[in-house]
Amino acid sequence: MAGLNASPDRVARRAAQLARIGGRGSSVTRLGLTREERRAHDLVASWLERRGARVRHDEAGNVFGRFGGAGPAILVGSHLDSVPEGGRYDGALGVVVAVEAMETLAAARVTLGRPVEIVGWADEEGVRFGIGLYGSCAAFGRLPAGAADRADAHGVTIRQALRALGLRGDPRRARIARGAISAYIEPHIEQGPRLDERGVPLAVVSSIVGILHARVTVRGRQDHAGTTPMGQRADTLAGAAEMIAALEEAAARRHGAVGTVGEIAVRPGAKNVIPGECTFSLDIRAPRDRDVEAVVRDLRSAMRAAEKERGLRSTIDVLNRVPVAPMDRGLRAALRRACAAVGVDAPELVSGAGHDAENPAHSGVPTGMIFIRSRGGSHSPRESADPRDAALAATALAHALAELAAS
Ligand SMILES: [Zn+2]
Repeated sequence: MAGLNASPDRVARRAAQLARIGGRGSSVTRLGLTREERRAHDLVASWLERRGARVRHDEAGNVFGRFGGAGPAILVGSHLDSVPEGGRYDGALGVVVAVEAMETLAAARVTLGRPVEIVGWADEEGVRFGIGLYGSCAAFGRLPAGAADRADAHGVTIRQALRALGLRGDPRRARIARGAISAYIEPHIEQGPRLDERGVPLAVVSSIVGILHARVTVRGRQDHAGTTPMGQRADTLAGAAEMIAALEEAAARRHGAVGTVGEIAVRPGAKNVIPGECTFSLDIRAPRDRDVEAVVRDLRSAMRAAEKERGLRSTIDVLNRVPVAPMDRGLRAALRRACAAVGVDAPELVSGAGHDAENPAHSGVPTGMIFIRSRGGSHSPRESADPRDAALAATALAHALAELAAS
């Protein structure tokens, strides 16, 4: 379709406007279900209303703007919260791009035959209440049991936070009726170096990795650091070190897999005491679920070996296991065509980060994602994206919507 041209200036201006909400220097702190997040939702709502959308805030704190009449809608958007001292683009740029796609279609006087809804999800990062992808979980009926009673570090529950925002306090009421959404598309910055390294501005996501979060506990024998001979120790930290090294090797052996220990604690924790207990976190991800399981299997055999060698006992407690979320074949093809329409030969990439798109994908809604090239990593004030790349994504998205919502 000719004549579709998103505006890099408007994209840059709107991204900067959002970054001022909770912004300090180049960093942004806009945690879920806070006044700042609500202000970001209100700002997006004002853009959508100006374009003629019907805006609603749901009972979980998400914001929607609907274009078109009754019937199943194509849902497009991302999240508007951030991590503490995060960047300006994670989530927010996806929402700006989604709105810009509608601006682009309107400017070219393209009328859509089917409804399109733009969404700004609440609390994707899960920093405050410990529930990642909270807003989209609520919309697709996938919240953990008792979610409303989860409290933040100050003892404020989700129920109370919602009431403070003028809502009723029950996020389960946000559940979208089955069949109301015909497809979901999420534009998002890549948050990694692959597009930048290839010199390509856009990619189409093929799937989102499977993730396992767990805690390993190693028990041994607390003892005197000076009087216990090396051959008579049950040192849990030394054992944990072997297990962690084995995790690295196991992940490196499987294509695309990653394994990370980001937290570790020893008890009692003194320089002259052999630690009697050691706990550490596990974050294991892979593009194929069987590789997540294989990394865990290898780790378990390293644990058994360290137990035998050192007289330890160890266990893995799985906290969360999210299976691989495959993106819809038809949408992937449509998004690649849309990228080609703006002159981009878009590669397909696996997403190593979790995204709201997992929830519709696991709920049987055809789901697709576009990645926008970003630099400076992510979850950091150094995170950056070029407004020209974002405008290209918006134009591509406008092409995709013109095709998908044509009749
Ligand atoms: Zn994000």
